[in-house]
Amino acid sequence: MNKKLHVKTGDTVVIISGKSKGKKGKVLAVSPKEGKVIVEKCNMVHKHVKPRKMGDQGGIVDAEGAIYACKVQLYCPNCNKAVRVAYKTYEDGTKARVCAKCKEAL
Ligand SMILES: [Zn+2]
Repeated sequence: MNKKLHVKTGDTVVIISGKSKGKKGKVLAVSPKEGKVIVEKCNMVHKHVKPRKMGDQGGIVDAEGAIYACKVQLYCPNCNKAVRVAYKTYEDGTKARVCAKCKEAL
């Protein structure tokens, strides 16, 4: 079952716990199935890469590791900090995410 996450690809989020706490970055990928997200330049891990073809260099590269979506919060440029998300339904039925604090659309 796919759980809907409160963040989506392209969102700017802040890490609220773990070793990358306080870091801000863009969501590169989300995995609703695992409830995880990958945030640009956050939670860097060493990945061992095998050379796949001749002339390719294997070795260790730095890559973003997936972190639980519950450990990130959406960043509100208006409040200049991580905020909770609220949902707003417009008269025509469309829903939008807004900042729970300043009600600015995110
Ligand atoms: Zn705000």
